[in-house]
Amino acid sequence: MPELPEVETVKRGLTPAMEGVVIGRADVNRPDLRWPFPERMAERLTGQRVDRLRRRSKYILADLSSGETLLIHLGMSGRMTVSGDPLGQFVHDHPMPAKHDHVVFHMENGARITFNDPRRFGAMDLLPTATAEEHKLLSVLGPEPLGNDFHEQHLIDAFKGRNTPVKSALLDQGIVAGLGNIYVCEALYRARVSPRRKAGQISAQRVGAMVPIIRQVLLEAIDAGGSSLRDFRQADGELGYFQHSFEVYGREGDPCRTEGCGAAIKRITQSGRSSFYCAQCQR
Ligand SMILES: [Zn+2]
Repeated sequence: MPELPEVETVKRGLTPAMEGVVIGRADVNRPDLRWPFPERMAERLTGQRVDRLRRRSKYILADLSSGETLLIHLGMSGRMTVSGDPLGQFVHDHPMPAKHDHVVFHMENGARITFNDPRRFGAMDLLPTATAEEHKLLSVLGPEPLGNDFHEQHLIDAFKGRNTPVKSALLDQGIVAGLGNIYVCEALYRARVSPRRKAGQISAQRVGAMVPIIRQVLLEAIDAGGSSLRDFRQADGELGYFQHSFEVYGREGDPCRTEGCGAAIKRITQSGRSSFYCAQCQR
């Protein structure tokens, strides 16, 4: 499942092919993904220039010259592919439509942007740009973890009095937007905080210290994604999935990498999701 750094990488990969470019034609090959597509979606996209591509949480937002914004969510298995060699960057091409190519944007610069999603948990919607933040998927979101509104005092206030485990609190999209299971595990490991600890019982100092750690974990992953974009010449044009090694996520039973520790990494289930952590280092 793509997390924030993957979505940011997709956005960065799409930008040179889409931003400032007119959508010459949109093929919408089915009526829905997770939800029905908006009415006349293909028609409302065709002929519109993409003025700006941005990301909010795990949503990609394309502001169009029509005054509407196209919202794209990759869901569990959504993938975006750039082909057609718009800027001479991409030597690959895949002219044959593949199964599960649900939406294809034919950009006027020659780029072809394909949204492929076998499981169809993804989504697209069109909303007025002026009131985009009021959309039901966006209005519930807390601050961006890499933005200025996510700061120490915000997290301290959000955790105050909370009886839920810190793991669940950090996954709460209303507290901080776009953090997923993997990067919460990684951040808690670096912060040396047990995922089981109640959010409201952690000292303000330790809570505040999580803010720069969360940013750092995400920025490192985005950097890894950026490297994957630079290696694009050898890739198949698919954006957003890249090799990245984790300190603790997925390492159950392996030795903790903290110097002088070496305890076996544990896995527990919290709210139906796996938490990986070192019971020696994380208290
Ligand atoms: Zn350890």
